[in-house]
Amino acid sequence: MERLSSRIKALSPSATIAMNQKGRDLKEKGIDIINLSVGEPDFFTPDHIKEAAKKAVDDNFSFYAPVPGYPALRQAIVDKLKRENNLDYSPAQIVVSTGAKHALANVIECLVEKGEEVIIPAPYWVSYAEQVKIAEGENVIISTSIDDEFKMTPEQLKAAITPKTRTLLLCSPSNPTGSVYTREELKALADVIAEHEEVFVIADEIYEHINFVGGHESIAQFENIRDRVVIINGVSKAYAMTGYRIGYMAGPEWLAKACTKLQGQVTSGATSVSMQAALAALTGDQSCLKEMNTAFRRRRDLVLNHLAEIEGVKCPTPGGAFYVFPDFSHYFGTTVGDRKIENSMDLCIYLLEEGHIATVPGSAFGAEGCVRISYANSDDNLEKAMARLKKALAALK
Ligand code: PMP
Ligand code: GLU
Repeated sequence: MERLSSRIKALSPSATIAMNQKGRDLKEKGIDIINLSVGEPDFFTPDHIKEAAKKAVDDNFSFYAPVPGYPALRQAIVDKLKRENNLDYSPAQIVVSTGAKHALANVIECLVEKGEEVIIPAPYWVSYAEQVKIAEGENVIISTSIDDEFKMTPEQLKAAITPKTRTLLLCSPSNPTGSVYTREELKALADVIAEHEEVFVIADEIYEHINFVGGHESIAQFENIRDRVVIINGVSKAYAMTGYRIGYMAGPEWLAKACTKLQGQVTSGATSVSMQAALAALTGDQSCLKEMNTAFRRRRDLVLNHLAEIEGVKCPTPGGAFYVFPDFSHYFGTTVGDRKIENSMDLCIYLLEEGHIATVPGSAFGAEGCVRISYANSDDNLEKAMARLKKALAALK
């Protein structure tokens, strides 16, 4: 007899992963799908990082590693935070985990008490709300507007804070919108948080290096909230290492200790070989960051230029990450044959089955009306995909 816990029954599957799988399944059947669903760089991991992974195997990095990560890697993360973000941390404040996703899950689990509220500006990455559910916290979703580039205002934040608020979950550059908060905007949010001593900020900075508007700004830079900010970051996006599964948290030492305790009971820590590769990524030649950034910027412009030619589509210019998040609600209520498009899910299924492009519905990110398109794909594929998109939308009457 099937018998699942109510916690797991209440959990939604990851829509990004589900759409990616649907795209893969059709591809395996021989259908030429262009996959713009999952957010992962299409680049191969740089050679010097691959070499470090191979060397780690040869050097017998095959034993259990320290639960919070090898000391050299934690030090490399401390050095990175100083070098790139001008932030002071000690290795005791760093915990390396199995991807940024796991680092985030640890932090939420350690920080959020049952019934406490987590403020999440929408559109938000699919896993935030679900991880809060696993921790039995309450999601407080703040809708942002396309006209504000999908950014939360300090007034909205202020109005959402209650005595039960435990943390704000902020993602900049953002998945799914690509929005980047400016230093001034972050300062204004920090000033609101500063007035509430119990409230933390979890700052997801995984797209830090995919930024087209200037240097990365971390909300951890503001002294008035510094000891209440937890940074989530990793090597997946910046160094094209999604499959290596290495991410980390940087925050108060007591929280790092708690994450280590939890991780020690759940995974025993991240993979030894991958940690050596991540060490090479953080300490080695950084020129790959610029090369990938240049390619992503060109692809963003390519996609935006095509979207601008499509009737009824509204799309702000994203400042970072590798997603565009256009509003396609103009096409809701249309039909093609006996297919009716009522919402973003219908549209994405239609685009997949008939247009042969995989995307992710806005509803999964708390923003019905929009569709997320990942442009982490080759220029050729993007050209083809945009032609398919235009043709599929033109057929909707
Ligand atoms: N945060 C955001 C906003 C992401 O898009 C992702 C990508 N999956 C992650 C965290 C997790 O990254 P990782 O692959 O390192 O687990
Ligand atoms: N972050 C990526 C995305 O949003 C990878 C998939 C996932 O982990 O959800 O597509």
